[in-house]
Amino acid sequence: MLHDALAAHHIHTVILGDYLSGAAGELSALQFPVLWVVEGEDYSLARQLVDRYLQDPEPDQAPWRCSRCGEMVEATFDICWNCSTIRH
Ligand SMILES: [Zn+2]
Repeated sequence: MLHDALAAHHIHTVILGDYLSGAAGELSALQFPVLWVVEGEDYSLARQLVDRYLQDPEPDQAPWRCSRCGEMVEATFDICWNCSTIRH
């Protein structure tokens, strides 16, 4: 997703690691794919875009954290699965 978001800003990135998942199994130290920004001068802009994306991915699409018990709840649910607190 980030790769596509940055590509929309003409920032060339390379994803490393995702094609390793499953192949290397428990030997892999990488839990998540790594996104490399190819052009050095793009890095600061890419960093800002990534930060913004992580803070506010897509409204109503991101999981939310229950204010009462702290559990993460899928965006499609408006009530905490753990303690039934209503999303707000
Ligand atoms: Zn809760």
